Amino acid sequence: MPKSSNSKSRQSFHHEVLIIGGGAAGLSLALHLAHHARIAVITKGPENSGSTFHAQGGISAVLRPDDSYKSHIDDTLNAGGGLCDEEAVKFTIEHGPENIQWLADLGVPFTADRHKDGSKSYHLTREGGHSHRRVIHAADATGQALETTLINHARHFDNIELFDHHIAVDLITGKKLGLDHNRCIGAYVLNKEKDQVETFQARYVILASGGASKVYLYTSNPDGSTGDGIAMAWRAGCRVANMEFMQFHPTCLYHPEAKSFLLTEALRGEGGLLKRPDGERFMDDIDDRAELAPRDIVARAIDHEMKRLGAECMYLDISHKPAAFIRSHFPTIHAKCKEFGIDITKQPVPVVPAAHYTCGGVITDLHGRTDIERLYAIGETAFTGLHGANRMASNSLLECLVFAQSASKDIISQLKEPHSWDDIKDWDESRVTNSDEEVVVSHNWDELRRFMWDYVGIVRTDKRLQRAKRRVDLLLSEMDEYYGNFRITNDLIELRNLAVVADLIIRCAMKRKESRGLHYTLDYPETDDSKPAENSILQPE
Ligand SMILES: Cc1cc2nc3c(=O)[nH]c(=O)nc-3n(C[C@H](O)[C@H](O)[C@H](O)COP(=O)(O)OP(=O)(O)OC[C@H]3O[C@@H](n4cnc5c(N)ncnc54)[C@H](O)[C@@H]3O)c2cc1C
Repeated sequence: MPKSSNSKSRQSFHHEVLIIGGGAAGLSLALHLAHHARIAVITKGPENSGSTFHAQGGISAVLRPDDSYKSHIDDTLNAGGGLCDEEAVKFTIEHGPENIQWLADLGVPFTADRHKDGSKSYHLTREGGHSHRRVIHAADATGQALETTLINHARHFDNIELFDHHIAVDLITGKKLGLDHNRCIGAYVLNKEKDQVETFQARYVILASGGASKVYLYTSNPDGSTGDGIAMAWRAGCRVANMEFMQFHPTCLYHPEAKSFLLTEALRGEGGLLKRPDGERFMDDIDDRAELAPRDIVARAIDHEMKRLGAECMYLDISHKPAAFIRSHFPTIHAKCKEFGIDITKQPVPVVPAAHYTCGGVITDLHGRTDIERLYAIGETAFTGLHGANRMASNSLLECLVFAQSASKDIISQLKEPHSWDDIKDWDESRVTNSDEEVVVSHNWDELRRFMWDYVGIVRTDKRLQRAKRRVDLLLSEMDEYYGNFRITNDLIELRNLAVVADLIIRCAMKRKESRGLHYTLDYPETDDSKPAENSILQPE
């Protein structure tokens, strides 16, 4: 873009590596590269604003002699509903233990058991789908411990520059600039404090910007999970796959101010009952295991009841248990609900299922390389083939670590090649004005998340998908016009990306004429076993 004649003087930066995202994936990569290259890590909010900080359960890896790679691989393939890439599964799992060791060496305070002879070993938990104890954790706040340790280490390296409150707007590629190559050579980034778009040029660019669960009305994710990396990669020309496989957690606290608060499955494990607003149970009509049926079945049942009754939420009731038992087993939940005026020892808790994890994403190989030269995608942004049609609990943080490590090896192996910087023009704002209609953004934001929830949520039909597609098409064209005419803001950037991601989810869902894993449609309720399972791959024009 030509430089605006009246532009303020803008900053532009040159680093060997630009990492967009400072969660488990982005920070691990930065630390692996820190002795080899100058790195910029940008985060759009405070440094710890991604999902990583919120992870509770832990990280899966084969860490005990009675466990085996084969068992972890088999469990992952089973959960993935016939769509996992076996090579990616094997690769991830076999690199698990060394990455856990790497974290332990950095000082992540994993919970340990002390034995009678004075020795210690890591305490491992077992989660849904895992046939062994293999989830290493730091009490019930693994993500916080992980993120904090990684940030503290990153701060110590002169080679790593951390830019918080910087939101990447779009990738810069040779093709976009009309150059004779199509390498990724940087990104335009809005410095939110200065309200100015800056140019970050880099030899290697990595999308480590997390998932897209914010596309739904209810989500367990932090506000920034707007699929920015997926949308940017798509706009730049990368293929995207399997976006229909969004994982929903069955029970999130339903309260206007209780964002992102999960109610653990253990509540149901200890006798919590799911009830309709009239106090009647419903899970016992749906599955023999009632409240203890697998996550996707419970989430689907709650969704079905809400839609059938037009209810805003269902209720989780454990108040029939002794108050002392509840307080001692669930102190955090008890305290958190109290903050919102709900006493779980005396009353049922309003709950909704919530979008939790994005299984699809930007297609990569085992080094995190995308379709565009020198552009990588790692962590929840990427589609590596590990998760297939359903992510197994605690495999996601493992994927962040393993692919950060493998991408770093690939980048290090190329750093010695000669390099010259391209000439990149500043961002042009000469033709745009400040919007006097912020309401357009907030209205579209709400509308998008609502129709995605209603029409492209846990239970889908062809008709609902078509309705959603018509709405998202309209929204995309409105956004294009708005984006072209008005000065960009954080909200506008995120909304534009959410609209792209919503479109990708709908298109993938429309391609799949069967129910498989996390994708359930009333029009094709069975899995199609008549032919080999296929990924839903979308190719940009
Ligand atoms: C409540 C909760 C509990 C979970 N529990 C577990 C668990 O126990 N085990 C497990 O394996 N997984 C768990 N997960 C999933 C796991 O936490 C995530 O998949 C993982 O942390 C993703 O890491 P990431 O590095 O890819 O992205 P994130 O940690 O989400 O980080 C994304 C980063 O990208 C930045 N960013 C995004 N867009 C832009 C942009 N445009 N410009 C600049 N920066 C940008 C953000 O600011 C952030 O720094 C949980 C998730 C949630 C929400």
